Amino acid sequence: MTLTVRQFPCLSDNYGFLVRDEASGKTACVDTPDAGAILSELEKAGWGLDLIMNTHWHGDHAGGNAEIQKATGCTIVGPAEVRRIAPLDREVRGGDMVELGATRFQVIETGGHTLGHVAYFDAADAIAFVGDTLFALGCGRLFEGKPDQMWASLSRLAALPDDTRVYCAHEYTASNARFALSVDQDPALKARAAEVFAARERGEATVPTTIGLEKATNPFLRAPLLAAAVGKAGAPDYEAFAAVRAAKDAFRG
Ligand code: ZN
Ligand code: FE
Repeated sequence: MTLTVRQFPCLSDNYGFLVRDEASGKTACVDTPDAGAILSELEKAGWGLDLIMNTHWHGDHAGGNAEIQKATGCTIVGPAEVRRIAPLDREVRGGDMVELGATRFQVIETGGHTLGHVAYFDAADAIAFVGDTLFALGCGRLFEGKPDQMWASLSRLAALPDDTRVYCAHEYTASNARFALSVDQDPALKARAAEVFAARERGEATVPTTIGLEKATNPFLRAPLLAAAVGKAGAPDYEAFAAVRAAKDAFRG
């Protein structure tokens, strides 16, 4: 199984992702931040489009569904909540499987940023599309869910193999790094933050990341280790996570 990922900037800080199953030539688009940018990237690549896979209902993830479907005739899969703003052909939830030619994506429930948020994991290629749940050195804001739900979602992603390439939907890494350094002085984080700042200076993307790198340096996944620093020593892990998330929400760096 080989999945080719084509990543490109959309809007101010989103990434668009086109994925192609090389065995069959079938192509999918993960989220639809900007229909015009996605359609022109398809044209550049010389690819048709078979499938849209939405992670959640926000406009910078499902807003291009209608226009792209009209232009390509593709099928749209995603959580039911997408219907709040966009067309959807097949509802998926955690435990479902989505096929693109020979590639199989496991649907992982990752509610918290929105209640119905899902991620897509291709185990054969060790590739995950995580929308606005997990970011490089960060995690999504809790617009709809509670901390215990988001912690469970992040824990599901953290349980994927360390070498899994993680495609997050936004380039937020430099500002995430500034916050991370304010709550965690771990040497691995400091080294990574320096690399992130340098990469962004050069105009390079910091996505994809990997599960192993996030487990080692992401302050949200490391929340249980930072419990004392955020005043939650001895509390359940999700409370330490909630305290780190609250600190980020209040951070002005
Ligand atoms: Zn979102
Ligand atoms: Fe987003």
